[in-house]
This record gives sequence, C-alpha cells and structure tokens, in this order.
Amino acid sequence: MPIQVLSDDLASRIAAGEVIERPASVVKELVENSLDAGSTRIDVTVMGGGARSISVVDNGQGIPAGELSTAFERFATSKIDESSDLIAIGTLGFRGEALPSISSVARVEAVSRHAESNAGARYLIDFGKLGKVEPAGAPQGTRIEVAGLFQNVPARLKFLGSAGRELSRIQSMLSSLALLDPGVAFSLTADGRERLRTIGSGKLIDAVSGVYGAKVVEQMIEIDEDQLAPFSVDGLVSSPSLNRSNRNYITISVNGRWIQSRRLSYAIEQAYYGFMPERRFPIAVARIKTPLDDVDANVHPAKAEVRFLREDLVYSVVQRAVRGVLSASAPVHELGAGRAAGSIGLLRTPGRTSTSEDFRSLGSGVSPNQRGNENFNQWAEPSTLVEQTRFSDPSTSDLQISQTSQTPKETLPVLRVVGQARETYIVAEGPDGIYLVDQHAVHERIMFEKVKQKFNDNASESQPLLEPVTVDLAPGAMSVVHEHLDELNRVGWGVEEFGANSLIIRSVPASLSTHASGDGAGRVFVGVLDELSEGGSGESWREHMLATIACHSSVRAGQVLSTEECKDLIRQLEKAEHPNTCPHGRPTIVQITVNDLEREFKRRK
Ligand code: ADP
Ligand code: MG
Repeated sequence: MPIQVLSDDLASRIAAGEVIERPASVVKELVENSLDAGSTRIDVTVMGGGARSISVVDNGQGIPAGELSTAFERFATSKIDESSDLIAIGTLGFRGEALPSISSVARVEAVSRHAESNAGARYLIDFGKLGKVEPAGAPQGTRIEVAGLFQNVPARLKFLGSAGRELSRIQSMLSSLALLDPGVAFSLTADGRERLRTIGSGKLIDAVSGVYGAKVVEQMIEIDEDQLAPFSVDGLVSSPSLNRSNRNYITISVNGRWIQSRRLSYAIEQAYYGFMPERRFPIAVARIKTPLDDVDANVHPAKAEVRFLREDLVYSVVQRAVRGVLSASAPVHELGAGRAAGSIGLLRTPGRTSTSEDFRSLGSGVSPNQRGNENFNQWAEPSTLVEQTRFSDPSTSDLQISQTSQTPKETLPVLRVVGQARETYIVAEGPDGIYLVDQHAVHERIMFEKVKQKFNDNASESQPLLEPVTVDLAPGAMSVVHEHLDELNRVGWGVEEFGANSLIIRSVPASLSTHASGDGAGRVFVGVLDELSEGGSGESWREHMLATIACHSSVRAGQVLSTEECKDLIRQLEKAEHPNTCPHGRPTIVQITVNDLEREFKRRK
C-alpha cells in the first residue's frame, strides 16, 4: 500500500484506543471533566458494567450552547491555550481528547446548561457521526450519556472483561477519585443498585467512611504536615492492625491528580516496616503537594502516571510523614487483632463459643519447628476469612476489622512472668489480663534496637571468626557488597574478596557470634545481601539489614528458658522503644483481656 493519510474517522478511533481502553476510562475522563468544571455533586450511573451505558451528571459550570459541538472536536479544550507551557498544569484534563475519543466509539448524548445561561442545549453524536445542537431544558451543569461503547471496534470489545469485572474497575477508580476529592459528593449506581456514596462534606474522614465504611475510620491515623512547605503530604493511614492483602487500598494524589505510582506506594508500605506483618498492606490516602512545575503530568495517555523532577525527595517526604505518625501510635496487639492478618484467635467472633481447638490455634498455627526455620512467611499467609472488599458493605465490615484498642503511646504494661509455654511463649499476667509473649519476636525486638543504636553511634562491635568462612555469592551480588561495603564494615562484618564471585568472612557483628557458627555466619551474610539487593535505598534497607542481624542474634522458638531468663527478656522489652512488634512487624505480645476471660467463662454477659 502506498503511504496515505488516514481518514479523520479512522484516526480518531485509533487515538481513542489510547485514552479510552475500557468503560472505566470513559467514567474517569467524564468525571475529571466534571471536577474541572467545579462540580460539587457527581452522579455516575452504569448498566452492564458500563458497556451498555454510562451516564455522568454534574452540577458544574456547564458548557455554553455555542461551544457544545466544539467540545467534541479533536484537541478542543478550554483548559490550556497557545500561551500555556504544558508544564504547570492545574486542571485534570488538558489534551482535548476525551470527548472526541469517546464519541468516535459510542453513541453520546450531551446535555448542558452553562451557569450564565438560562437555557440548555443538547448534542448527539452517533459513533462519530455529528448531530445538531438543539435547545433543551436542563438544570445547570452537564449530563453526558454514553451507550454502546466499542460497538464499532470489535477488537476492543473482545478485550473487555465480564460486566462484573468492568464494574469493579469503575468502582475502584471512582472510589479513588472520591477519596481524593472529599468536597465533592459522589455516587455510583450500577444496574439500579447504589454502590458508592460520599457526602461531599470536604472532610477526608467522611470520604473514607463513604468508601470503606465507618468502622475503618476508627482506625485511621491522620497525617497532617505543614501545608506551607513546598513539598508536603496530608491524608489518613490505617493503624498497622488494620491491613489488607494487596496494595489496592493505597490511594495517592499529586496536586489533586490521582496517580498510580509503584514507587510512592512503596514509600508508604516501607513506612510500615516493623509495624505490620510482611506482605500485608495498609489502607492509605496520601495527598501530596509539590510545586506545580515539579511535576510533568503529560507523560501517560490516561494521565495515570506523572514524572517528578525530584522523585527521591517526594519519596522521602512521604515515607517520613507516614513513619512519623506510626511511630507515635503503635498499639499493643489484643487477642483477635491479628485475625485480619491470618493469625490468631476466634475468641471474639460474635455468636460463637471458643473450644479447646480454638485455644490450640492461639499459637498462630506455626509450629516451633517452622519457627526455627525462620519461616516468617507463614505469618503473612492470607486469612481464611474473606478479605473485606474495597467497598463498604455494612453486612461484612464488622467482622474484618480488628478490635485493637488504641493506646496513644506505645508502652508495655507491667508484666509478671508466670512461665514458659510450648518452649515458645512467655506467659505473663498484667493489669488488664493475660499476656502471651513470643520469645523469639521479643528478643529480636530487643536485639534490633541494640544493634541499631550501636550502628547509629558508630560503635558496633566485631568478633573475629576462629576459622574464616568462604561464601559463594549470587551473580551480581559482589557489586552489592562493593556498594555497601562501608555500612557492612560499620555493622561489624569483616569480609575480603576471594575470586570473582566469592568472599571470605573474617569477622562478624559481635551480637551474632554466640548464635551463628562458621557456616551460620555465611548464611546470615547471604541473607543480608539479599536484603540489600532487593531493598531500595536509604533508611529502609539499613533497617532490613539490622533486622536480619537481630533475627540471627536472638533466641529461637523451641528453646527452653528459665523463669529468670523469661523475666530478663520482659525487663529488657520494657525498655524498648517499640516493644509491641518485632522488627519484621509481627506482634511480640498478644493480650487476652479480663473482659474476654470473663465473657468466655460466662462470669458475665
Ligand atoms: P479536556 O478535558 O482535555 O479539555 P475534553 O475532551 O475532556 O478535553 O473536554 C473538552 C472541553 O469540553 C473541556 O475543555 C471543557 O471546556 C468542556 N467540558 C467537557 N466536559 C465538561 C463538563 N462536565 N462541564 C463543563 N465543561 C465540560
Ligand atoms: Mg477532559
């Protein structure tokens, strides 16, 4: 075929594919237009997962009748003009592509009345075929109805999921927009059933309640940063006991624009390091503010990603802010609190009496042997309980949320040691009940803080090995060693290169020496390297490294402890800065409250 210019019709259908991939993209573009128009109410209605029909009704400033047909032309926009530099963009839309794209692959009816006009207008476009603008009665604002999406693009139709799947994408996307714009009252109705409603009070907490349910709100902690700083973040993050099995509950915006960013999501996850079990994820809404010209919003067809001029700075602002509020409020785990994390206890399940079977399961289902292998992943296994869906459903939400009572400052109750159970747990009593303490987790926490303190003071001690050991490294690991050599030395490792892919360990961090013999030292070192090569930058890998060393410096499950040793561990734990979790985020201590006991033994109702 000779080279030829495509017809407008074909060109716009191809372009539509970039912006409009599925029903959720239609909803996103239309709702963003409504937001740009200053709406305070946006009602979305869909049928058949959006493939049948989508309608978005807003009360924004509306489109003047004389501009209604222009709005559907390619690259027609009121948001930027020739003088704009495409750098500091304050609106959600700016390319003038959404309406023409949508109307080239669907039947669209637009009805709008502009704020300064007392008559409305209607415009119909039938799969790219333009109609005429006609007068129509309408309230102020805009209503756009989209039907038969992709009927003329079979290839795209074929890639749509089931109606349910597409609806869940719409709901998830709209939830994010609703969370990030609490001043706007959103609703979503699908096939006649309301799926989402926020009240538009302007308070983030109300939006979170609308999206995730009122129960969740009780466990959200506010991040409230200095909004005057050029880079800042505010929002709400869940207390560590409230967590989920995937990161879909992390919602991030930059200067009001919802974005998807693996990196910033990771910044938030990392802030929970040591507070939350591994492979569990928080609920979070983080609204980042940067100078407008620090962000390029024009890098992604659906505007879902942005580019930062100083991404590292943004990363650390976010991580520090979240870390800050978490450190200030890490609670003691109450029995049952771990349920959402797939761990323990059914004592609190309503309408069910616990049996001795339940009591046996208190041990979190991990046998001492498995513990001995340091197989902490056990802990992170998803709960058998159905994960709460992202959306509030009053009938299920109660069950899923842990019932930890939050203490404002992380302190340990005064404990009296009763003894050791299963060679794994220290049993103690305290002011409000009975406490079970995981001996390994506790020792890990204590060692972690010691090792970290020494590291920070530059006072780590090193212990020479009687017989140096050789370790073979994974491909690429040598460069990790080189990169982090200073810090490895600083924590007490003395290593020497020995050929291309192996090295000799001559000395180890002193805390390790009594627990790791020659081969053990090699294994710990390889573990540390794994942490280093996985583990990003800055604070977080250092914490991982110190946690690995602490782990291997600690008593194991299955080790018999005398009462004196138990007491000594508890005394040291009392002095720890964050006594309630081990450095990997597992609880060190769980509580059976006096209330629980009285209820279980039917001493009272
Ligand atoms: P963009 O949002 O990039 O400007 P669109 O194709 O999405 O491009 O919209 C084109 C124009 O139509 C917008 O610039 C705006 O002026 C107008 N418009 C679209 N939707 C609305 C709405 N809901 N309310 C008011 N004006 C709208
Ligand atoms: Mg737009």
